[in-house]
Amino acid sequence: MLKNYVMKVLKFGGTSVGSVENIRTLIEILKKEKSERQNPVVVLSAMSGVTNLLISMAERAANGDDFSAHLSELENRHFDVVKALLEVPRQNPVFTKLKLFFNQLEDLLQGITSLQELTPKTRDLVLSYGERCSTLMISKIADQHFGDVVFADASELIKTDNNFGQAHILTDITERLISNFYDENRGKLIFVTGFIASNENGKITTLGRGGSDYTAAIFGSALNVQEIEIWTDVNGMMTADPRMVKKAFPLKELSYTEAMELSYFGAKVIYPPTMIPAFLKKIPIVIRNTYEPDFKGTIIRHDCRESEHPIKGISSINEISVLNVQGSGMVGKAGFSGRLFSLLSREQINVILITQSSSEHSITFAVNPVDAIKAKSLIEQEFELELDAKKIEHPVVEEDLAALAIVGENMKQTPGISGTLFHALGRNGVNVRAIAQGSSEHNISVILSRTDLAKALNAVHDAFYTDLKKNLNIFCLGTGNIGSTLFRQIEKHREFLQLQNGVMINVIGISNSRKMIFNQNGMSLNNWQETLEQEGEEADLTSFVARMKEMNLPNAVFVDNTASIKPIAVYEDIFRANISVVTCNKIGNSSSYSQYKNFKDLAFQHGVDFYYETNVGAGLPIVRTLKDLMISGDRVIKIEAILSGTISYIFNNFKGETTFHDIVKEAQEKGLTEPDPRDDLRGTDFMRKMLILARDAGYQLEPDEVELENMLPEACLNATSVADFYNELNNSNSFFESLKKEAIASGKVLRYIGILEDGKVSISLQMVDENHPFYMLSGSDNIISFTTERYKERPLVVKGPGAGAEVTAAGVFADIVNVGAQYPNYF
Ligand code: ADP
Ligand code: ASP
Ligand code: MG
Repeated sequence: MLKNYVMKVLKFGGTSVGSVENIRTLIEILKKEKSERQNPVVVLSAMSGVTNLLISMAERAANGDDFSAHLSELENRHFDVVKALLEVPRQNPVFTKLKLFFNQLEDLLQGITSLQELTPKTRDLVLSYGERCSTLMISKIADQHFGDVVFADASELIKTDNNFGQAHILTDITERLISNFYDENRGKLIFVTGFIASNENGKITTLGRGGSDYTAAIFGSALNVQEIEIWTDVNGMMTADPRMVKKAFPLKELSYTEAMELSYFGAKVIYPPTMIPAFLKKIPIVIRNTYEPDFKGTIIRHDCRESEHPIKGISSINEISVLNVQGSGMVGKAGFSGRLFSLLSREQINVILITQSSSEHSITFAVNPVDAIKAKSLIEQEFELELDAKKIEHPVVEEDLAALAIVGENMKQTPGISGTLFHALGRNGVNVRAIAQGSSEHNISVILSRTDLAKALNAVHDAFYTDLKKNLNIFCLGTGNIGSTLFRQIEKHREFLQLQNGVMINVIGISNSRKMIFNQNGMSLNNWQETLEQEGEEADLTSFVARMKEMNLPNAVFVDNTASIKPIAVYEDIFRANISVVTCNKIGNSSSYSQYKNFKDLAFQHGVDFYYETNVGAGLPIVRTLKDLMISGDRVIKIEAILSGTISYIFNNFKGETTFHDIVKEAQEKGLTEPDPRDDLRGTDFMRKMLILARDAGYQLEPDEVELENMLPEACLNATSVADFYNELNNSNSFFESLKKEAIASGKVLRYIGILEDGKVSISLQMVDENHPFYMLSGSDNIISFTTERYKERPLVVKGPGAGAEVTAAGVFADIVNVGAQYPNYF
């Protein structure tokens, strides 16, 4: 008969009992609990770090090394708590009891030193002191506050088999012992050691690392409590490991299966077997945060509501090794995998994940790295005959791997989940080594390189939790006019972007030709100049790219705000590292056709974006418009354009008395020219833009195929420096004056116009009358008219300011925000 003895079991983990401050909180939590309900049963872990400390002490002893420093550390940690939290008269008896434990432990370690051997049985005995010390000590502290406290050594109440290190519970006897103990101590506040138990001979066993959670569930089930609370150091079960995914958030509800799968695949916040007794008795488990006791945490329960997300969480195991066994001898041999896995289970090697190819030609399975070599040699012994007969090959061990699993009970009803997962991984260049989907369809697991894990987790998290912000991690080259304007714009719109578009731009790296600087968490752009000057290291393009690759961040974007040829050489490497490129630098796209094509192909192959809207007409939507026309099946018949904002400005202002020379100078001062104004006036810049448009329109053109009519006199063209060029311009004022007069006399204006027709591009100086659409053009405006199959009668025209740092930086900004716009987010 089940008796509703107590209301709750409260388990406090290592951190929750790990410091004076946290133990104070624990007492407060108990105070509140006692005031609201019947006394709970309290299960405690060892103080944080103590179990690991005990392991290294035992290992040192077995190696004959000195363990005294570790022992003193252990003593001090407990003594400090006693001194801080117990009244003086209560301290001595506790010191004495603790000292007794430490002496026993020391004797035990001496014994290990003499034998130079550490058996699993002795190891469990050593580890038991962690929970025994913490629980004894804290029970005495609680006694001072509440009175009527009982200390229970769980090794007297939980009975297990002899599987030291990870023992299995003997349920019936355990439940009886617990129930009797509870009856004997009815009304008291019981403190139980987590993690430890004993076998039928009374020898100490442990329940596996993290096993105190399990102790709580065993007590909860035996006493048929209303709820099991697991108090830890995070706000519940999170959507991913919060140490690796900053955007992970706590889940409100989970089913037992989901909690089990998530914890089995690495979410160590709860120990997987904990769910079994709770599930059988339908007792809810609540995970709560000692640092935020008012937060409701995560509830794991039977009738959990459907969540709005297609998956519940993403879990990960940082360190695994994979073994691959293959060979023709395995085909159709039903007994092979049975033999293999019973061998591994007999030898207590935990197989984390298995995949088998449909041809049955190979089996791949993942194990803990410490087991990999042992597993390999066990297989080689067991299958010696098959190996000799070449029916199977020697197992291959792959190391430095990690596992990532997406988990959720909704997954099986929702199509497209694996597509989203693999798209997110593929787009970020994460190579998947093996895949496993449990037949339950509650989980899809992938194996990947350990160095990719953080990136993969973040990318997958972004893909499934669309209502979260998308982070773009940008690396910017060039801090001239455009670069610095871009930073100002980003800083100004940052908040708006986050709120309105859910996009967060983190500037991770900045480099100019002198200095470079990185900040993995994103830089403040308030005073980037100063930071770069003062804290920056010497700039080096190769190491800038190397660092960017090394950081291996998801949604990484390389932004080239230079007009230099140098960065073009690194684009290829960047695409190959699955990083998107946004550039206002025209050189890359307007040199050889093969280079242009190569960039496009690489971006496509690596699933990243290559955006260069500002290559043509600064921020005006020209490249994008042409792309939209092309992808929707339209065909370009003719493009007519004025794409040199500089030349537009010059001709529009070449009026009255002002000389041509002065206007050019003025344009340069206004930031409307390329750094070298000759690039504009020679038509080189215009030629580049027309070439890029022609290529985007589908024509395979080389730069020397563009017919470029020169509008400058020979002497200006031959100038050897910018200063010399201005001199020559001054000398040619009369040439330009006569052109102007000729135009005015015939009621026309001067326009430098580019035309793409029949696959040919030409650029020439023309005089157009008022009937021409390009007649009315002001300032530095660009104009482009697309005559296409669809826009045949009246062309599609884009017109507006086509030069200047503000509009160009805005174009770069828009390109950055558009990166990953078709990202594989789950809709
Ligand atoms: P305790 O000592 O309280 O038992 P643990 O260290 O065993 O605590 O487990 C809590 C830790 O689990 C958290 O601090 C967190 O770093 C880690 N963790 C890993 N994955 C997750 C997850 N998905 N949700 C919450 N915590 C997680
Ligand atoms: N102290 C044990 C460990 O560190 C058990 C636990 O904390 O749950 O594994
Ligand atoms: Mg734990």
